[in-house]
Amino acid sequence: MDPYLNFRPPSGLDIQYHRLLTARQMNSPHADARPDPEDISLLVIHSISLPRGCYGEPFIDDLFLGRLNTAAHPSFDRLEGLRVSAHLCLFRDGGITQYVPFDHRAWHAGLSSFDGRDQCNNFSIGIELEGCDDDPFTDIQYTLLGRIGHVLLQTYPGLALERIVGHGDIAPARKTDPGPTFEWPRALFEIEFPR
Ligand SMILES: [Zn+2]
Repeated sequence: MDPYLNFRPPSGLDIQYHRLLTARQMNSPHADARPDPEDISLLVIHSISLPRGCYGEPFIDDLFLGRLNTAAHPSFDRLEGLRVSAHLCLFRDGGITQYVPFDHRAWHAGLSSFDGRDQCNNFSIGIELEGCDDDPFTDIQYTLLGRIGHVLLQTYPGLALERIVGHGDIAPARKTDPGPTFEWPRALFEIEFPR
């Protein structure tokens, strides 16, 4: 028997213990237990930039880790006391940070509803893309989203291509992200057929 039959070189995007290997791991305090850790059945795509339209800054990490200095920019006033997080952020340069393990509840969706169920945080994984409504996302973000989304669908059988939504889809009165520049057909194709 070929000893290498089942050998698979690590892609770096495998998941172990609900963490994405090779993602930079940082633990957000804005997270808690899921009501049902077995119920992971929705993938929510977001976009975020702080300040809006500015990239490569440390402020996304700071916000999700509960250490944002709201005096650093006038637009941060509205973020005072806000306790939010996401499972992952995919940065425009290809950096990946995980703030919350997938079997825990990240606080990304807020008041939300999908398919008749409220409180989407309970049963969803939230992925942020560094960006805003005005700018196209980068090629590497689509590639990473494809690979990671594919692995997530393999790992969590409650997920499916038709259970991938934007934040604006589950909170339409409050949110628009990931916004009009996000190419849904491209993203879904990359997730189904990752490169
Ligand atoms: Zn969002």
